[in-house]
Amino acid sequence: MTVTSTRTVNRGRLARELVSAVEGEARFDDGSRALYANDASIYRQVPLGVVLPRHADDVVAALEVCRRHGVPIVARGCGTGLAGQSVNAGVMFDFSKYMHRLLDLDPKARTARVQPGLICDDLRAAAGEHGLTFAVDPATHDRCTLGGMIGNNSCGTHSVMGGKTVDNVLSMDVITYDGTRMTVGATDDEQYARVLATGGRPAEIYQRLRELRDRHAELIRSRFPDVPRRVSGYNLDDLLPEKGFNLARALVGTECTCVLVLEATVRLLPDPPHHTLLVVGFPDAATAADHVPELARQRGDRVGVFRRWGAGQHRQTRPAHPRNGRVARRRRLAARRVRRRHRGAG
Ligand SMILES: Cc1cc2nc3c(=O)[nH]c(=O)nc-3n(C[C@H](O)[C@H](O)[C@H](O)COP(=O)(O)OP(=O)(O)OC[C@H]3O[C@@H](n4cnc5c(N)ncnc54)[C@H](O)[C@@H]3O)c2cc1C
Repeated sequence: MTVTSTRTVNRGRLARELVSAVEGEARFDDGSRALYANDASIYRQVPLGVVLPRHADDVVAALEVCRRHGVPIVARGCGTGLAGQSVNAGVMFDFSKYMHRLLDLDPKARTARVQPGLICDDLRAAAGEHGLTFAVDPATHDRCTLGGMIGNNSCGTHSVMGGKTVDNVLSMDVITYDGTRMTVGATDDEQYARVLATGGRPAEIYQRLRELRDRHAELIRSRFPDVPRRVSGYNLDDLLPEKGFNLARALVGTECTCVLVLEATVRLLPDPPHHTLLVVGFPDAATAADHVPELARQRGDRVGVFRRWGAGQHRQTRPAHPRNGRVARRRRLAARRVRRRHRGAG
């Protein structure tokens, strides 16, 4: 699929076609573009425009327009990504405004079906009514979305108890840039055969992924780093037969480079009814980190690190330096000179 440079795109036509294609919103005004040009990282990229889909059909329709114009796309939840994952010069799909519903919660099966824009804490609050929880809680849990967490393979303090996002995703409804829509998850041989028999683009994708896995299986087994917080790179190990050829989990953490997530079924865990907090003080962050493995072995449900920001601490972060006072005085005098000059000019 050819993606053209965003510079050669007819933005006016693209905007008009997107506005008429979706039931939600397509915003191409400068204010909206500026609003979406940043996330929580240091990067800034002004998008061509923003689509706020009302439902999955809007995504299908908007993608069709983007494809025709050959423009790149990027998905966005709350935009708290720290490495520029949620900014792009293409068309931005913001799932947080309309596609943020909890579609189903089954306390017996301990599962929830969610739209990508659902906020983590909204899911946790609903699960909490049944003594359950979604174990992944990044520090941004009161605003980050399930789609963004899946995009980033997020984790949080409770990951000690329940793993990362990848460990809690059961299946996903996804769409690729070329418009192929699939429900993906663990795929046994029977399901694989069914997909191949149905044919079309899904069959091609499944087959090629299986070939890729078979070609590199031994390398993946021997070389993939076995660390609990591995979120960089694609989860190729989830394609291995012993992991159930799990396309959903392989797609977690792909940061919108492979698919847009339209819906996901996630696992819920029992929420421990009682909590005890143990606070341990360390002289510095490095010493605290040295003790994490030891603390993790105690089988608590979370380990977190807090820095104490008392008045004394603030003073320490700006070490007293004989020049500090002089620099401040020089700045004050310079500002006074500028004010005087302005008064004189007036
Ligand atoms: C102060 C602070 C603290 C943080 N603490 C943590 C932490 O404790 N643990 C942690 O893991 N992270 C942490 N983060 C990073 C970030 O908050 C999390 O990764 C969060 O889950 C991202 O969610 P979001 O909705 O903001 O996603 P966004 O930033 O909007 O998106 C993240 C990625 O997901 C993709 N994406 C979004 N929606 C979809 C979709 N529907 N389909 C496909 N891809 C999609 C985006 O394109 C992007 O690549 C922190 C960030 C900040 C600013």
